[in-house]
This record gives sequence, C-alpha cells and structure tokens, in this order.
Amino acid sequence: MNEVIVRLNKKFISKILNGYPLIEKDAIINKNKLKNEGDVLKLVDHNNKFVAKAYYGKQNKGIGWILTLKENKKIDYNYFRDKIAKAISFRKKMYNDNNTTAFRVFNGEGDGIGGLTIDYYDGYYLINWYSEGIYRYKNQVVKALNELTEFKGIYQKKRFKTGGKYIDDDDFICGKRGEFPIIVKENGVDFAVCLNEGAMVGFFLDQREVRKTIKENYAKGKTVLNTFSYTGAFSVFCAMGGAKKTTSVDLANRSKEKTIEQFSINDIDYYKHDIIVEDIFNYFKYAAKKQLKFDMVILDPPSFAKSKKYTFSASKDYKDLLKQAIAITKEKGTIVASTNCSSFNMDKFLKFINDAFKETSKRYKIVEKFSLPTDFKTIKQYKEGDYLKVVFIEIN
Ligand code: SAH
Repeated sequence: MNEVIVRLNKKFISKILNGYPLIEKDAIINKNKLKNEGDVLKLVDHNNKFVAKAYYGKQNKGIGWILTLKENKKIDYNYFRDKIAKAISFRKKMYNDNNTTAFRVFNGEGDGIGGLTIDYYDGYYLINWYSEGIYRYKNQVVKALNELTEFKGIYQKKRFKTGGKYIDDDDFICGKRGEFPIIVKENGVDFAVCLNEGAMVGFFLDQREVRKTIKENYAKGKTVLNTFSYTGAFSVFCAMGGAKKTTSVDLANRSKEKTIEQFSINDIDYYKHDIIVEDIFNYFKYAAKKQLKFDMVILDPPSFAKSKKYTFSASKDYKDLLKQAIAITKEKGTIVASTNCSSFNMDKFLKFINDAFKETSKRYKIVEKFSLPTDFKTIKQYKEGDYLKVVFIEIN
C-alpha cells in the first residue's frame, strides 16, 4: 500500500499520542494528500516529527484509524496477522465453550484496527468492512484467518455505501458455502443465522449477557412485552426461561416468520405466544386503551427509526418511550431499557430514566446494569466504542 505523509492539526496531536484511535475529519491539514482509501498515512506534526501511522478510510465518524504509534512498524501482512492472532487468543475461552458458538472475534479499534470487525458463527467467520479503505486489506485479513484458524467458510459485509450502508452482494469469500440458516448456540439456546441474506444476520451478539440474565433470573412465570423485537431473540430467551407468555412487536413484516423460526428450532410452541407486526407506538396506544399490563417490558429500539407516522431518535425520545412502557407495566414489574446509541453515555441514560419516572409520578429502583460483553473489546480512550447501555428497572 502507498505511504503518504500528512500533517496533523496541532490540537489533535496529544489526543492521538494518548491513544485516541480515530482520525477526525478536521485532524489533517493538507487534505489534498488524501487520495486513495487504504493508503497508509504517516502522520507528522508541524515540525515533521512522526506521530503515528494510520490508514485512510472514510466512515461516518472520521476519515481513518490509527494503526500504530511506532515509526518503524510496517503495515504489512504480519501486522494484520499479529493483531488478529492476539484477538483470537483473547477469546480462547469462548472458542472452547460448546454452549455458545457465536461471538465476536475482532472488535475494531478495541482490538487495534478500527473499521473492521470479525464475528464467529459456529465455524463460519463474518468480516464487516466499514470503509473502502479497510476493505483494501481484505487479502491480508483473509490470509490471516486462513493461517490462524480452521473454519468452514468466510463471509463478509461491505458496509461502506454512502452513509455507512451495506452494499448488496454475494457475501461469500472462501471455504465451503453454508446451508443457511445455520444453527448457532448461545448459552444452550439455539438460534438460526443467515450470513448471506443482506445486511443483517438475525442476531445481535452484544446482548448475550442480557439475554442470559433475563432467561435465568427474570422470565419465569412472567408475561413479557418485547418491543422492537426483530427476530424475537429476547422472546425466545424469555420462553426458554419459563415465561408465561411473550408478545413480540416489530414493524417489519419479515420479523414474524423469523420469530416463528427461532421459536420453532427451540421446540417452543409459537401459537402460545403473540407475534405482532405493527408500529410499536400504535401498539402502546392500543395496550393503554385496553388496559393491558405486563410483568416485564423490554425496550431495545434502534438509535434512530422512521416509520410512517413516527420518528424515533434515542437521544431525544427515549424518555417518552419509557413513559409509554411504564404505563403498561405492572406494579413490581420490570422494564429492561436498552440502547446502542453512542451519542450519550450511561449517566445521561440514567437521567432519561429518572425523568420518565418523575413525570409519571412513579417510584423505581435500578436493579442491574449492563454494558458490552468482553468479546466486544473496547479501549478507554474511545468511549464512543462502549456504546451498549442496558438497565433493569423495577417499578415500585
Ligand atoms: N431488540 C432486537 C433488535 C432490534 S433491531 C433484538 O434483540 O434482536 C430494531 C428493530 O426495530 C427492527 O427490527 C425494526 O424493524 C424495528 N422497528 C423500527 N421502528 C419500529 C417501530 N416504530 N415499531 C416497531 N418496530 C420498529
């Protein structure tokens, strides 16, 4: 790859030297040097003194990621192999756990290379490329997986169309093609996963601890409303944990058959559960009117969503979402409030929760809190990477 020398804006230098991994949009003075994504950038200060090496790759959040603070480090195949090898050895325990066969192997900047993630699904690897720049290192990354692991096959998602969108394609790279859906296990529960069916695979790995906790400690005998239910992962874990009944609500048509599939592969009679395709904000109104009350309400919305009638933005509307949930949760019931929005932190999220209860004149207790599991490795210098916030709230 080409190596290009670029000069850093003074005010970004100490941050980078302290381990901040992202090159922000205004960090580079001579932007005209930025030509081909994937180029290795040698970042220097105003005296031409070396600061760091990075790669050029445009994402929503910046224009590239720092690769090393060592001037003599070569960004070659060995560089990628060593980072991936280290990431694999950090997850050794997970590879050896037969009850959980889906987890994250490489978590972007948390494992030293931003813009790249690699997930493991029972023998298959799925690589996510978040810029054209990192995609130019495909050969190195695939070669490293070949050298370091045994696998059935490798798939990829190119997530770098304008606005970070997925580029629709045949996502197969090498190995043996899977017969999808493949069944993976998470803490003993089966889950159907498709690696070559568009942007989504059907399962958000980062909620593993939350699903386990709900199944083991909360679900038994409960009626549960699972909002923004997608493929019904939380509903399945509730049912496996002995919930009396789950109600899954999602706007997307495909969510219904996907949820039926997840129930079925775990031998749960889906007829005993409600799977509703509807705008959740309409459902809240319906439930309030019918005076429905649930023992547990799970809120796991996307950071931003637009439906025909409503726009939801987690940073603006989470408090109101909570208020609607509070209205249909029983006394002593539980609300599981989750968000993957990286633009606010746990303290702010707790404030949304406090405000929602204040405005509904109800008392509450925070029972437990979760953030990302260990396979979603983060670094303290990049707080935005630690995006997941889940709070279990008991209504008093
Ligand atoms: N909680 C899920 C993941 C949610 S993904 C899980 O644990 O797997 C976000 C989902 O929200 C998508 O399936 C999308 O269809 C749904 N969604 C977005 N806006 C919605 C709305 N207004 N009403 C209901 N569902 C909505």
